[in-house]
Amino acid sequence: MSTELKPPKDSSKPVDSFAEMALKLGGKSDDEARRTGAIDRADDQVEDMFKPQYQTVNSPAHRAVWDRGVPVDLFRSKEFTTPADIQQVMDRSIDTVKNHHNSGTLLDERGKIRDQVLDELGGVGYWGLLVGKQYGGSGAPFRSFAPFLTRMAQVNPTIGGLASVHGCIGAVDPVNTFGNEEQKRRLLPELASGRRLSAFALTEPGAGSDLTALKTRAKLDGDHYVVNGEKLFITNVVPGRLVGLVCMIEDQPAVLIVDLPKQENENFQLRKYGLYALKQTFNQGIIFKDFRVPKENLLHVERGNGLTIAYHGLNLGRIALCAGAAGVMRGMMASMVPWAHYRVTYAEKIAKRELVRSRLSRMAG
Ligand SMILES: Cc1cc2nc3c(=O)[nH]c(=O)nc-3n(C[C@H](O)[C@H](O)[C@H](O)COP(=O)(O)OP(=O)(O)OC[C@H]3O[C@@H](n4cnc5c(N)ncnc54)[C@H](O)[C@@H]3O)c2cc1C
Repeated sequence: MSTELKPPKDSSKPVDSFAEMALKLGGKSDDEARRTGAIDRADDQVEDMFKPQYQTVNSPAHRAVWDRGVPVDLFRSKEFTTPADIQQVMDRSIDTVKNHHNSGTLLDERGKIRDQVLDELGGVGYWGLLVGKQYGGSGAPFRSFAPFLTRMAQVNPTIGGLASVHGCIGAVDPVNTFGNEEQKRRLLPELASGRRLSAFALTEPGAGSDLTALKTRAKLDGDHYVVNGEKLFITNVVPGRLVGLVCMIEDQPAVLIVDLPKQENENFQLRKYGLYALKQTFNQGIIFKDFRVPKENLLHVERGNGLTIAYHGLNLGRIALCAGAAGVMRGMMASMVPWAHYRVTYAEKIAKRELVRSRLSRMAG
């Protein structure tokens, strides 16, 4: 959340965020207000990176709540044409997935998206959509990427979700936005081609909503950070991935780009379990024991800390998640309507029934 009650930019002393003040006024303890405020402040710091017209205080939804009257015009999206070369990457990506879907070759024997499909998607440029052209991607604007995810989710929501994990919360956005030139040149071409796919490791067994409880730590030892701790619920993590790891360094949240080995070993193991929502891909825990990461893989942030980096990606991820959900709903609609016209009860199509019609209209939004 973000409002006018932001800390002044030149202040070195943290000022109560809106959430902190609201929680205190609502009778929460100072400790809970302070810890929730730390998360809210990371959101505010990300917000300050955007031009004023893209900040929450100026968004149509915010103005509808806080101003008198609803600025209806601002809700209308402006015409936008996706550049032809980017459109081509998107169309080829959809065709690749459709072809595998139609020929029954999308999933492997474990029911997961096959590596060959992920590789072919790399070949047509899918994984590089959000990477700039100078680093081997196609530099898609987010307003083209989000509607594209809606299309992809209609064909396969998991593959749409993986583009969001890779491009928004995984390593692409943190390196794109916060990486130095050396890190960008070293990491982005690999991420753009899909030779390296990425994941995002923030959640821990004891830290989900409450990110002030993070326990995974990294300590500098010569040219490396030594990581110890456990992450949980990490989407798209398998050996060999590049992971944006949020961990504590000198008692401050920080982000390290971690190059996972090709196989588990005594320093890195995966905790395996089933998660129904992501049954076509991997979601696993990661255990680090004295795992060494080169110190040049630390991302630096001018204002804020590692949570600011995490929230920058999570902000994109929130939009991507909604875009994917819209695609899933369209897919459901596409199968509901013909069925409602086919199915007859008491000599009448159920599409004529008020209850069914109201459900269809709710689904259509
Ligand atoms: C499908 C899926 C994919 C995921 N992928 C990733 C990933 O790639 N990387 C990653 O790092 N994490 C991932 N996660 C983890 C996700 O970010 C966490 O599940 C989330 O942050 C919530 O944490 P938690 O599960 O520990 O719930 P908890 O924090 O334990 O919360 C449990 C419940 O209590 C409520 N609650 C908590 N605090 C409050 C409060 N102060 N006031 C009111 N209600 C409260 C919550 O809303 C929730 O309903 C994934 C999770 C899922 C389900």
